[in-house]
Amino acid sequence: MTISAEHYDELVAIRHHLHENPELSGQEFETTAYIKAYLENLTIEILETGLKTGLVAQVGQGEPVIALRADIDALPILENTGLPFASKNAGVMHACGHDLHQTSLLGAAKVLKQRETELNGTVKLIFQHAEEAHFGATDVLATGILSDVQAIIGYHNMPTLPAGQIGIREKGVMAAVDQFFVTVTGIGSHAAYPHEGADSIVATSAIVSSLQQIVSRNMDPQRAVVVSVTHMAAGNTWNVLPDTAIFEGTIRSFEQADRALAKQRFYDIVENVANAYGVTVDIDWILGTNVTYNDPELSAFLLDETSRWHDDVVVPELSNAGEDFASYQEQIPGVFAFIGSNGPGSPGLHFSDMTVKDEAIPVAVDYYVNNTFALLEKLGQ
Ligand SMILES: [Zn+2]
Ligand SMILES: [Zn+2]
Repeated sequence: MTISAEHYDELVAIRHHLHENPELSGQEFETTAYIKAYLENLTIEILETGLKTGLVAQVGQGEPVIALRADIDALPILENTGLPFASKNAGVMHACGHDLHQTSLLGAAKVLKQRETELNGTVKLIFQHAEEAHFGATDVLATGILSDVQAIIGYHNMPTLPAGQIGIREKGVMAAVDQFFVTVTGIGSHAAYPHEGADSIVATSAIVSSLQQIVSRNMDPQRAVVVSVTHMAAGNTWNVLPDTAIFEGTIRSFEQADRALAKQRFYDIVENVANAYGVTVDIDWILGTNVTYNDPELSAFLLDETSRWHDDVVVPELSNAGEDFASYQEQIPGVFAFIGSNGPGSPGLHFSDMTVKDEAIPVAVDYYVNNTFALLEKLGQ
């Protein structure tokens, strides 16, 4: 651990305070004020962005320019950890560990400010709002504040990996997320006279079953794609066949070609099975985050650099979850790592009993700080 014992204790207290006071996406007012006060106390410059929540700060000066990103929002989940510092905001919880992310970036901010004279370039520190709602990164990019940034790094904690383990892999690391909502319209009838209608329930059942063939029959078995129908609804009594049924769900993929093929097959199956059952469909397709795609050269470089100062570095498995860090990577070469935050068998992200260990904090601070120096040196050559 390169941070001092006092700094570690300070960061643990900060993490517990943030965990106790979670705020939902786009409503991180107290969190933002807390971060701002901490940075201003260190005389770190807060950049003018016009963002309502979240902020971008800056350390160092001149070229090259890099960015470090942490997200700050929480989830609408009733906490069930039993921690002494559990959420005081009932129904809202840092169940994705963004309390850890922002704490470690505050820790890195302090170290980088102390070592500012050693910095050969500028570091922008992004405390990003609304990751869970997938509009925070887009908001930050829209301010133009990152237009001079040449590389960006971030990470997500992984409760299922040992605390302090760092995982870095090339190319796709977290999934592209697509969402669908389908309305199936048939003709309602008396349950005893189904032949006088067009049954939306039987049609929907057939459609949902057929959708399972996208992964099993259309996708390359060597590459990961997920199709999940998560919600179906139809009818409201036992002796009437309803006019309509709905279903919704999500598709996850890691390659642009797979994403496009899955969408095409989805439309083919839904429309043609509906046609076979004499019902009509209305498909609402909601594009979510793009694939979190690590720049191959930068990720190889950071994997190598991180291995120099840390003895627990792995190439992790893909995550089927999505991340709006992907939006930055569409414009700026970037690397998104995983940092273990608990251990195998622990409750995963978004679970009401998910916990992270404070031992992950100093490793995450080092990830930001050491890679900042490595990146500035590489880009400055
Ligand atoms: Zn999350
Ligand atoms: Zn998250």
